[in-house]
Amino acid sequence: MIADMSCIFCAIAAGDIPAEVVTQSDAVVAFRDLNPVAPVHVLVIPREHHADVTTLSAVPELMAEVMRVVNEVAAQEELGDGFRVVFNTGPLGGQEVGHVHAHVIGGRQMKWPPG
Ligand code: AMP
Repeated sequence: MIADMSCIFCAIAAGDIPAEVVTQSDAVVAFRDLNPVAPVHVLVIPREHHADVTTLSAVPELMAEVMRVVNEVAAQEELGDGFRVVFNTGPLGGQEVGHVHAHVIGGRQMKWPPG
């Protein structure tokens, strides 16, 4: 599926819903999370609709582009001292939006294990 018009992140990728975009490429968009959990909290999504990281992984070149942009965000946001990348996956993984997204979180000390 290229786009799901009921999907909020497809709408952000299409520019139909506003978001604070920090960087983008032909295939990927990175924008600030509406409810940040840290000083830096950016979501990195493929423009194409994929439900989660398991289906995205079936398209390795797109997965690689998502990860390239994750690193671009980290550099742009000056997260050289460290950051966290999270793909919440499925109900038990805490995924609420069914369009795969990498959370890039940083700017404070991270704790482990997460809640
Ligand atoms: P997850 O629980 O991994 O599915 O995370 C979904 C994330 O999307 C949450 O951190 C929300 O705060 C964020 N979010 C939901 N709607 C928007 C939006 N319109 N713009 C930016 N972030 C959003």
